[in-house]
Amino acid sequence: MSQRSATAKPVLSVQNLQTSFYTDKEVIRAVDGVSFDIYRGETVGIVGESGSGKSVTARSIMGLVKSPGRIEGGRIEFEGDDLTEKSEKQWRKIRGNGISMVFQDPLTSLNPVYTVGNQIKEALRLHQNLRGKKATGEAVELLEAVGIPDARRRLREYPHEFSGGMRQRAVIAMALACDPEVLICDEPTTALDVTIQAQILELLDELKEERDLGIMFITHDMGVIAEVADRVNVMYAGEMVESAPVEELFQNPRHPYTQGLLKSIPGRAGPGERLSTIEGDVPTPNEEPTYCRFAPRCPKEFEDCNAVHPEPVSVTADANDHTAACLLYPEDVSTAEAVETHKRGDSK
Ligand code: SF4
Repeated sequence: MSQRSATAKPVLSVQNLQTSFYTDKEVIRAVDGVSFDIYRGETVGIVGESGSGKSVTARSIMGLVKSPGRIEGGRIEFEGDDLTEKSEKQWRKIRGNGISMVFQDPLTSLNPVYTVGNQIKEALRLHQNLRGKKATGEAVELLEAVGIPDARRRLREYPHEFSGGMRQRAVIAMALACDPEVLICDEPTTALDVTIQAQILELLDELKEERDLGIMFITHDMGVIAEVADRVNVMYAGEMVESAPVEELFQNPRHPYTQGLLKSIPGRAGPGERLSTIEGDVPTPNEEPTYCRFAPRCPKEFEDCNAVHPEPVSVTADANDHTAACLLYPEDVSTAEAVETHKRGDSK
C-alpha cells in the first residue's frame, strides 16, 4: 500500500471533467463532472458497470475522444499543465512521453506483421530517440522488466508466437518504452485467465513501486480492484458516486450502488444465500442531472432522490478522505439537513 507525504502533489488531477457525445437525437453526457487525483507510486482504481463512463474518462485524459464526442468542460492537469488547453500536436507529445495506456486486448495494440522487438524499438525511437544497438539493448531490458524470459530471442518473434499473458506483458513493455509518469490500464486483465491475471496485477504493482508510476486502473471487477488499488473511485452513469481508500471502501461502503456492487461479488454471500444482483441497467446519461441517476435501481430511494442532484460529500463531518454522492450523507446530520446541503451545492 502506498503512503504519500502530506506535501505531495498529484501527477494527474482531473477536475469536473465533462465529455459528451452528440447524436441526431440526443446529447450523451458520458462523463459528467468527474474529479479525482493520481499521485506517483499510487494505483487509483476506477470501477463501475459497462456504460458508467470509465473508458471515456481514460480516453479523455489521453486526448483520444473522437467526433461526435468532445470534452466540454473541466481541467485535466498533468504535472501542473491543463491538457484541455493543448493543441492536438502538443497533446500527442504528452500522450507519448508522459502518459501511456494499456488496453484490454493486447492484439489491438500489437501489429501482427511486425516482430515484438520492432514494435518496442519503434516506440523507443519515437519517444526516446533511441536507435540501433541502444534501442535493442533497451528493448531487451524492457522485456526482462515485464518478466519475459529469454528476452533477446523473443524480440525476434511475432505477436502470434506469444501466449495471451506474454502479449499483455509485451504491450506493457511498449507502454513503458515511453518512460511514462502515468500508466492508464483499461481492463488489462479481462481477457486473461485468473492465474495469468494475478501475475499481470503483481507485475503492475512491482512496476509502480520501481518506477514510481501513477497508475489509473479501470475495471468492472471489484475483486481485481481489491487486489490492485490503493484508492477506489466508483463511477455510475457518467458520475463519480463514491471515493475512498481501498480498505475503507470495502469495509464501509456508503453509496447504495457500491454496497450493491460489493454484495454481488461471487463468494461474498453466506452459505445457502443467493448471490445478490442490482436489478436493471445503467441509464444513458442524456439529460442534466437534476436528480439521482441511481434512483430507479436504489433500494434506499426516497422522494427527494428524484428532485435533488446529489453532490460528492464527505460521508461524515470528520471523514476527509471518503466521499459519496448520495442524499443520505453526511450521515451525522439529519437527512433533511443533508438534502439541503446537496440542494445548495456547497457540499464539495
Ligand atoms: S440519493 Fe437516493 S436514490 Fe440516490 S443513492 Fe442516495 S438514497 Fe439512493
